[in-house]
Parts: sequence; C-alpha cells; structure tokens
Amino acid sequence: MAMMTCSECGRAVSSKAAACVGCGAPIEPPAGLAMARTPPPTPPSVRDLRRHLALAVAALFLGLIAALAADHDRSGDRLGQFIAALLLIAGICWTLVTLVRLWAAKR
Ligand SMILES: [Zn+2]
Repeated sequence: MAMMTCSECGRAVSSKAAACVGCGAPIEPPAGLAMARTPPPTPPSVRDLRRHLALAVAALFLGLIAALAADHDRSGDRLGQFIAALLLIAGICWTLVTLVRLWAAKR
C-alpha cells in the first residue's frame, strides 16, 4: 500500500482508498497500480465444465480401479489403499461440484 497526496487538500491518503478521508475527493491510483489490478475472473464456459467433468469422472474411475486392485492385493499395501481412497473421494467431490456448476451454467 502506497501513500499519496490528495490533489484537493494535500492530505496523505492510501492509494487503495476510493476517496480522500479529509475532503472526499476521488483518489486516482498511480498508473502502475491501476495496471496491476486484475480483471474479475470470467465464469468457465459450458465447454470448460464438460472438460472438467470428463477429468473428474476419469479420477473417479481411476480411484475405482485402484480400490479394486487394492482389495484384490491382500498384502496390506497401505499406500495403494490411501491413493485409492484419495482418488475416490476427490473424484466424487469433483464430479458433484462440476455437475452442479454445469447445471447452474445451463440455466
Ligand atoms: Zn483531500
């Protein structure tokens, strides 16, 4: 945060303030700060969401395969079980979130 001088009353004000606290004059941010401000994020398109859904279902499918493999292998491979559980939980959550976002985007 940079301090700057109000062009109306000469008081030191924050460059992040919308207006001077002393006189209420609008504050113009320095050109460098104005450029640094990022535009608001655009919502993902339906095409993007469909791609996310495909990835989410793929993660879920991989988790299912890993779970079946871990179940088949009775050697007690904790890492395999952990990865299978992680992929299943992440896949389920990601799929549900993407389905809701897709449903909301189509409305
Ligand atoms: Zn002022």
